[in-house]
Amino acid sequence: MAAEILSADGAAVTVYERMPSVGRKLLMAGRGGLNLTHGEDVDRFLSRYGAAEPRLRDAIAAFPPEAVRAWSEGLGQPTFVGSSGRVFPVAMKASPLLRAWLARLRERGVRFALRHRWTGWDGVGRLSFCGPDAVHVVVESDATVLALGGASWPRLGSDGSFVAALEGAGVAVAPLKPANSGFLTSWSDHFRSRFEGEPLKRIRLSFGGASARGEALVTASGLEGGAVYALSAPIRDAVTAKGEATLAVDLRPDLAADALAARLRARRGKQSLSSFLRAAGRLSPVAVALLHEATLATGATLGTLSPNDLARLIKAVPVRLTGVAPLARAISTAGGVSLDEVDQDFMLRRRPGVFAAGEMLDWEAPTGGYLLQACLATGAAAARGALMRLAGRGAAA
Ligand SMILES: Cc1cc2nc3c(=O)[nH]c(=O)nc-3n(C[C@H](O)[C@H](O)[C@H](O)COP(=O)(O)OP(=O)(O)OC[C@H]3O[C@@H](n4cnc5c(N)ncnc54)[C@H](O)[C@@H]3O)c2cc1C
Repeated sequence: MAAEILSADGAAVTVYERMPSVGRKLLMAGRGGLNLTHGEDVDRFLSRYGAAEPRLRDAIAAFPPEAVRAWSEGLGQPTFVGSSGRVFPVAMKASPLLRAWLARLRERGVRFALRHRWTGWDGVGRLSFCGPDAVHVVVESDATVLALGGASWPRLGSDGSFVAALEGAGVAVAPLKPANSGFLTSWSDHFRSRFEGEPLKRIRLSFGGASARGEALVTASGLEGGAVYALSAPIRDAVTAKGEATLAVDLRPDLAADALAARLRARRGKQSLSSFLRAAGRLSPVAVALLHEATLATGATLGTLSPNDLARLIKAVPVRLTGVAPLARAISTAGGVSLDEVDQDFMLRRRPGVFAAGEMLDWEAPTGGYLLQACLATGAAAARGALMRLAGRGAAA
């Protein structure tokens, strides 16, 4: 987006990219439909950025969700608002959008230097790259926008290697942490082997006063998926501080505990307890197994619970989380270049003329289109700052 804004103003732009092609993470985001932004009202939207909101507010106001939608449409990819308020391109993928975008940038003269890994600055302040065949390349630029991403899914390109280069230049970088990530728990061998990869659908997860409805996926070592990601920031902080956190899983969020208990008082006849729970509680096999798993952890068995206790358990199955899934598997990255290190145009205070944008800055947000929205908006803001500086009109750095 920075290249778009800069080249639209006639600047000569080169995009240096360490991978053999650009936009690999954008293409991966497209596998889930490419949730570009969200349709909710602006205050609610901005609240998703938590502590970073005051620093992102102006950039998002200048390049709001409507601008993201217009930009996509301008590239031949009209958007729609889904039932959850999330905004997607009608094509539900990133490849046509990226293709049209790159074609537009090339038409404007933007150059792409692929297989160039930025490694920092040389002794006289030039940008240093490790180019193809490990050739050392140095580049002088009038302005630089760093948009090096986070460190999740490193095989797509962003591997957090900027941290060393920036810290070496005295720029404070908050430790990179998983955001929108899964968590680790100790499933029994039976549960893991039978239910790994199974989704717990239409559930509500609660943790520390916050709750999220949606889906969670059982992994070999824990839980991941939309509802888990929505609560992942407070859970991550609790697991990091205390070594564990207990998540409550409501397997029947649309049914009150007493209504559920009334159903469970019905005679079970010759049915096994699991079959009875599946039928009377309308629970999936993985949900019933999770109930067994939770009682196993307490040394009890499900069969000894009264209908009231069973209903209470179904409404809040405790799952003890003992670790955060690795950053490499997270959807996004928290931490990054401290927002105190950049001015209102996202220019590094210690490196006048160098701007930073996107996920490499220290902010985080849940899934829902907030990630791409802030990346695009900060990219645009950094580019506007660079243009002002190039025109000699910038605020004093
Ligand atoms: C599976 C998945 C699904 C997602 N789905 C969505 C979604 O639907 N909606 C949403 O809002 N967000 C989604 N995200 C998050 C979103 O894709 C990212 O937040 C966004 O792409 C970050 O943009 P960025 O430009 O800051 O970084 P990136 O997209 O990571 O781009 C940074 C680029 O810099 C390059 N680079 C890194 N270091 C160097 C270096 N030293 N030298 C040269 N080049 C370098 C990388 O190769 C990369 O191409 C998803 C993420 C994942 C992993």
